[in-house]
Amino acid sequence: METSTEGATRPDTGPAVPAEAVDTVVVAPPAAAPPASLSPSRASDFMQCPLLYRFRVIDRLPEKPSEAATRGTLVHAVLERLFDAPAGDRTVPRAKSLIPGQWDRLRESRPEVAELFADDPEGERLARWLTEAEALVERWFTLEDPSRLEPAERELFVEAELESGLRLRGIIDRVDVAPTGEVRIVDYKTGKAPRPEYAEGALFQMKFYALVVWRLKRVIPRRLQLVYLGSGDVLTYDPLLADLERVERKLLALWEAIRRATESGDWRPRPTKLCGWCDHQAYCPEFGGTPPPYPLPVRAPESGGTEQGRMGPD
Ligand code: SF4
Repeated sequence: METSTEGATRPDTGPAVPAEAVDTVVVAPPAAAPPASLSPSRASDFMQCPLLYRFRVIDRLPEKPSEAATRGTLVHAVLERLFDAPAGDRTVPRAKSLIPGQWDRLRESRPEVAELFADDPEGERLARWLTEAEALVERWFTLEDPSRLEPAERELFVEAELESGLRLRGIIDRVDVAPTGEVRIVDYKTGKAPRPEYAEGALFQMKFYALVVWRLKRVIPRRLQLVYLGSGDVLTYDPLLADLERVERKLLALWEAIRRATESGDWRPRPTKLCGWCDHQAYCPEFGGTPPPYPLPVRAPESGGTEQGRMGPD
């Protein structure tokens, strides 16, 4: 999963502060640094809108948790934990019974998600939200049979360095390995499957993971599988070496565009209908805002290079 749930970044809780110093110490936000690696989520951010990438990766502007993304995180946690049970016990009731405990754990690890229901004193909206999470979990059983699966890995953090020095990283929801050694990479999505004309964008993340696995283990995954719990669809793709070589070239071009923007400080907004979900409109020139002062040293822009905001997944 790459959830912003869908992200390869872990929350940075910052340095520990001695209790006796709490009254006197102001904890500074983490110092801005040039990007050092690329995950599928952040690559998609740059392709969607370079300025959004800057806000997330360089400025690290805070974002409000959303009900949909938090429900995604919760459902992913339930599906992962269900495999702790013996195969015969991986049932719908067992999976649903995991939801309250995983919701408690999520609130402990990310207290900000409790804000989602701060204005819901009767707990009605929370109850509805939990019921929706149950429905997503239940739908999974119509798409896959966990009693017949024995994942080789769950929530697997992967990182590989390309010859160019570019580091790719991400978290793969599930890796299955057949007795013949064939590898299947599986990602759960709690939303709906895209229309066929947008399938390539959805597969970009999976090809990214396939490239990382190939670079790490010299094995081309036999199958990439996206499981859409929102609509009850499964999208599969069997990648070829040429696919991975193509995505590698694509990522190198993307990284070069990110490097140029990092050095020049020139991050263009690219408005689309996705702006409606952007937390940073108040800082975005497209919406009358002004970005915060650029926190990195700036060099004069180089000529040429990839035009920002014109990069699609393929
Ligand atoms: S509001 Fe739209 S154009 Fe502005 S930063 Fe967000 S995604 Fe980019």
